[in-house]
Amino acid sequence: MQICHTCGKKPRLGNSIARRGLAKKKGGVGKKITGITRRRYFPNLQRVKAELPSGQIRRIWVCAACIQTGRVKKASPRLRNQETASV
Ligand SMILES: [Zn+2]
Repeated sequence: MQICHTCGKKPRLGNSIARRGLAKKKGGVGKKITGITRRRYFPNLQRVKAELPSGQIRRIWVCAACIQTGRVKKASPRLRNQETASV
């Protein structure tokens, strides 16, 4: 589920840095790093009703970047209404 259907983007590892103290430019003695722990960065996945290359319409998990660049073809609700009206 935590993977983009079109580009395969998945959670990446990074560091979470805990700091305390007041920054020097704010008049303090400087920031101190009090801890570093591993964390995961998740892609911005959205569940989208899309038309697959095979023509099948399904709900898939796609990242926001793929939606914005138009790498997924969204299923048109209007088109489906026309199909049901003609039947
Ligand atoms: Zn993607």
